[in-house]
Amino acid sequence: MQSVAEALASMMPAFSPLGEEEVPLTSAAGRYLSRDIHARFDSPSFNNSAMDGYAVRAEDVEGAEKAAPIRLSVHGESRAGGPLPSMLQPGTACRIFTGAPMPKGANAVVIQEDTGRDGDWVDVFEASTVGKHVRAQGSDVRADTLILKAGTRLLPGEIGLLASQNIARVSVYERPRVALLSTGDELRKLGDTLEPGSIINSNVYVLTEMLRAIGVTPVPLPAAPDSLPEIEAALESALEADVVITMGGVSVGEYDLIHEAFKNLGIEPGFWKVRIKPGKPLTFAKHGATPVIGVPGNPISAMVSFEVFVAPCLRKMLGDSEPHPQPIRARLREPYRRRPGRVEIARARATREGDELFVTLNQRQGSGSMSSFVGVNALVILPADRGELEAGDLVDAILWGSGICSADSFFESLD
Ligand code: AMP
Ligand code: MG
Repeated sequence: MQSVAEALASMMPAFSPLGEEEVPLTSAAGRYLSRDIHARFDSPSFNNSAMDGYAVRAEDVEGAEKAAPIRLSVHGESRAGGPLPSMLQPGTACRIFTGAPMPKGANAVVIQEDTGRDGDWVDVFEASTVGKHVRAQGSDVRADTLILKAGTRLLPGEIGLLASQNIARVSVYERPRVALLSTGDELRKLGDTLEPGSIINSNVYVLTEMLRAIGVTPVPLPAAPDSLPEIEAALESALEADVVITMGGVSVGEYDLIHEAFKNLGIEPGFWKVRIKPGKPLTFAKHGATPVIGVPGNPISAMVSFEVFVAPCLRKMLGDSEPHPQPIRARLREPYRRRPGRVEIARARATREGDELFVTLNQRQGSGSMSSFVGVNALVILPADRGELEAGDLVDAILWGSGICSADSFFESLD
């Protein structure tokens, strides 16, 4: 039996990015850049005002104060999107608005609140300094500098940066196609009539969404019954994908036929069984360069195996330069007694109280309980050697789902 570390270490090298493709920025959200991106131009691309007020020469308003204002004549205006203002002459001011180009010759903006307008004149009540309230050309991004590295996931902030640089197409790694093959005579698809003894193939729906959330393309296949020829036939078509995930049939029962099917199809065994709970029967194999992962059929085991082992591998395959989730530290709300020996991944609810994070483990930790995932926002990772955990003990946890949310607004508590 493998340790968690050994299992991951033998899986990760089997996953490498596929090719790259160019896509429009408008459909690039969630994808990973396959190339570094450099700025096309300075941003801002022209000196502009950060405030509504008057563009001046700082030297013209030196010493200005409320009791001794300095009077300048107002020449023209500059507004965002308007015509370019003409050169500012010494001793004059130009009316200016946020985002508007600075006139040549001006080097500071006096905010409207520090001025008094009188017809063609403005009284300046505050001295200024060179560059004040001016967004200088290139102060955010300099032309030709590296703005995003290959391996970065494109989220709204990154999309905004690229859009601001007028970059309409980007090179991203291809999305791997990941086949999902469920096995089991008892499995029915959503909407089928359930005769006694049969169940809905819930795993295929769960893992389809987990794959989608990661950014790969799920290829859900019809479930195969527990018969060797049918599993083999289904596996052959699954092997057309870039990665194959089988679900169920990896334990030691007579109807657990996955290993035999792998053997018959020349799928090279990697490992079978990991010291983790749930998810012990996890299997990893390869068909040529195609990774084949067998996750247990128990719904919770399938999800946990996916999160711990499959997700980092697929992120790496997507080109993610940081494929591994980093745990947070939180205090156990209640004591927990368990048999040591395996790493345990426990469903929990994390809450913030004052300066600390607490995790409350679900009462039910059985690997068949579908209802036990509702409301879960953290997976607590209990090390193999720890059997007795006390309330208040610090544990590692990875955030899950929507993270830490509440019915109460934190912002509403702010002044
Ligand atoms: P197995 O890993 O095939 O021994 O299945 C373990 C348990 O998980 C059994 O109770 C199965 O009925 C159940 N199971 C297997 N595959 C699925 C699936 N795709 N969706 C929901 N439950 C499943
Ligand atoms: Mg089965």
